[in-house]
Amino acid sequence: MPLYDYRCANGHLFEARHGFDAPAPPCPVCAEIDVQRVITSAPGVMQGMSASVSPNASKAELTAKWAEETPKLREKLVSKLGEETVNKYAPTLNAKYD
Ligand SMILES: [Zn+2]
Repeated sequence: MPLYDYRCANGHLFEARHGFDAPAPPCPVCAEIDVQRVITSAPGVMQGMSASVSPNASKAELTAKWAEETPKLREKLVSKLGEETVNKYAPTLNAKYD
C-alpha cells in the first residue's frame, strides 16, 4: 500500500500507509480529523533526476534535463492526483523551459 504524508489542522506532520480510496486517518499526535494530504513525491523525483546527470553537469545540461523530465513528472502526477491538484500544489511543473 502506498505511504501518504499528511498535515493536520494543528500543523503536525505524519505518515500513514493505507489504500488509495481509504479516508484520511486522524492525526496520531492530537487526534485532529481535519488533515490534508501533503504532496512530497516531487523532491524524491528531483533527487533522482539530478542523480541521473553527472555531478559536473553544466547549467545548460541540467536545464535540458529539466525540460525533458518536467513534463513527464507532471503527466505522472496528473494521472495520479488530477489536473486541479497538480496546478494547485505543484504550479512550478507548469514552467516552460524552452
Ligand atoms: Zn495534530
